[in-house]
Amino acid sequence: MATTTVPRWPATSFSDVELDPSASHHLVLTTDHAAADHVGHPTGASVLHMSGADDDALAEALQAARVGWRFVVVGSGAALVRVRTAILAAGAIDAEVSVVDLGGGDGFAAGERDVYCAHCHAITTTTAGVDESLTCSGCASPLVIYYHFSSRHHAYLGFHPDAEELP
Ligand SMILES: [Zn+2]
Repeated sequence: MATTTVPRWPATSFSDVELDPSASHHLVLTTDHAAADHVGHPTGASVLHMSGADDDALAEALQAARVGWRFVVVGSGAALVRVRTAILAAGAIDAEVSVVDLGGGDGFAAGERDVYCAHCHAITTTTAGVDESLTCSGCASPLVIYYHFSSRHHAYLGFHPDAEELP
């Protein structure tokens, strides 16, 4: 779709990524087990395996990062956006971050997004759009996706339509 603002990634295999010989270090970040298996043990790069919302490991790795590092995010779905956003927030520039979408580059075609629950703070990944509803994976509340993207949570805000006010 020409009108989508949803990101698409050109690389669909780790071998599509050219490691930059001028970089001081390459850090490969895998967002799930399939990605970890896919990447294996590449030469000339270190690998950080994340499982789900293992944000502590990510934050630690980013704290250790230095100028000249390159990042390769490997996985599928909304986790790619989440990890890439965190790397950029830590000070990397766009050109230093490559993304490999094992979902074939169209994992976002259906508008997959993360929704942050205003009530229990759980994050639910969904294909529902803004103003549509879903069930929170944390508290099982019916949530409506509010048109607000939180850069802090890297997710859209969802709230219970019958709640009196946002907490
Ligand atoms: Zn909830």
